[in-house]
Amino acid sequence: MTLARPASRRAGAVLDRYQPVIGIEVHCRLRTASKMFCACSADFDGAAPNSHVCPVCLGLPGSLPVINRRAVELVLATGLAVEGSIPAATRWDRKNYFYPDLPKGYQISQYDLPLASNGQLTVNTSEGPFTIRIRRAHLEEDTARLVHAAGEDGRAVSLVDYNRSGAPLMEIVTEPDLRTAEQARRYAEELQLLLRTIGASDADMERGQLRVEANVSLRPVDAEAFGTRVEIKNMNSFRSVERAIGSEIERQAAALDAGEAVVQETRGWDETRGTTYVMRVKESSDDYRYFPEPDLPPLHVEAAWLEEIRARLPELPAARRERYRATLGLSAYDAAVIAADPDVTRLFESTLAAARGIDPRTVSTWVTGEYLGLRNRSEGPIAVDPADLAHLVRQVADGAISRANGREVLGLHVATGESAAALIEARGFRHISDAGALASAVDEVLAAQPQAVADFRAGKWQAVGFLVGQVMKATRGQANASLAQAAVRERLAKAGEGEG
Ligand SMILES: [Zn+2]
Repeated sequence: MTLARPASRRAGAVLDRYQPVIGIEVHCRLRTASKMFCACSADFDGAAPNSHVCPVCLGLPGSLPVINRRAVELVLATGLAVEGSIPAATRWDRKNYFYPDLPKGYQISQYDLPLASNGQLTVNTSEGPFTIRIRRAHLEEDTARLVHAAGEDGRAVSLVDYNRSGAPLMEIVTEPDLRTAEQARRYAEELQLLLRTIGASDADMERGQLRVEANVSLRPVDAEAFGTRVEIKNMNSFRSVERAIGSEIERQAAALDAGEAVVQETRGWDETRGTTYVMRVKESSDDYRYFPEPDLPPLHVEAAWLEEIRARLPELPAARRERYRATLGLSAYDAAVIAADPDVTRLFESTLAAARGIDPRTVSTWVTGEYLGLRNRSEGPIAVDPADLAHLVRQVADGAISRANGREVLGLHVATGESAAALIEARGFRHISDAGALASAVDEVLAAQPQAVADFRAGKWQAVGFLVGQVMKATRGQANASLAQAAVRERLAKAGEGEG
């Protein structure tokens, strides 16, 4: 019998003996108006079952597929964004298997000629930047959705909803380059950001628009050959990607330590129990009998078309972070936070444009501090007008109002939608930097706090901070904090001389 040791010590020990080898496969739903090979609307989330169907996506005999040009463009854009190679010509293949979610008995996919190959993506991890090679990105059609429920007589039934059948799906496969669960999580997050930035996909994991699967194996640290790999599915969040892979590494290490062989299988992630479980044992590799799709012509990617797509690519996340850091002077952390979310990026860029002449770092602290603080505390999305935020940032930067009041005005702007200028006027938020008004506030506070004054005289310097806090409170935060501190110190010094 062995005693359980703390997870952190165990994890450290595992990596002394074994090297994890991890590859990631992502399926993502492309953002198109219609499905991959028919005119059915691809906007079927929440629609009644089987309301977005036609003979093509139901796989009825005699129906013929027609290629969705937009879907091809989105895969090409992704290929270019990850610096991949695009072939001059490609074709479609049939992947054959029998399952109720596949009405034709085959899926139209791409086998040996993907639309993009040999790309790469660099992610930032706690151990520094890490580049992952992307083997391929190809286009295929999605399957129908199976719903397992209780029938009218109480017996279990499986229902098929064909709305998703034939929706355009992109599969992106990495080389087995990843070595830690954190790298896998960061890769999935960075890929989601990239796909959203170029408009290829909404890539919402919770809505099934981005499905992440991992292949995990371990090999002794001094070995070349890969170990037996296990496929992990059912990871529904970035957090579960990291937890599932971490747990699988531990499980395989324990098996190898005990002299057991790792079984080649597909495992699911149980979020509640925090472990993976066996879904299906793979005795041999799947044989899908791929063959060229006879109903579709080969696809020629003309150079001019590709250049058009390249020219339309927006600034990519990595380039944006670099510009924020190198040109605008933002910290690497702030640059990453702002570039990580398209809504935050838009607010920052528009506020910066409206607040001309203000240091970008000042705008950045308002966006990453005050705006994100409000958004994180709010139940739903919040709206901030960039022109109002710019006005507020300028008022605070010019010393016209205190930062505390500026923060309050921003909160009121979000709550009421009123303009920042009107809120400042209506609430009478103005800085007290007038020496006379400040001096009387300081006198009142010193008179009301004899104990703190006595503490200060007894050598307790921290009493100054308390007294300044009382002045800020007495002026409802409208005093200029540094002026208030100077006034308190000056007044205490004078009083000391008078007595001495
Ligand atoms: Zn259809």
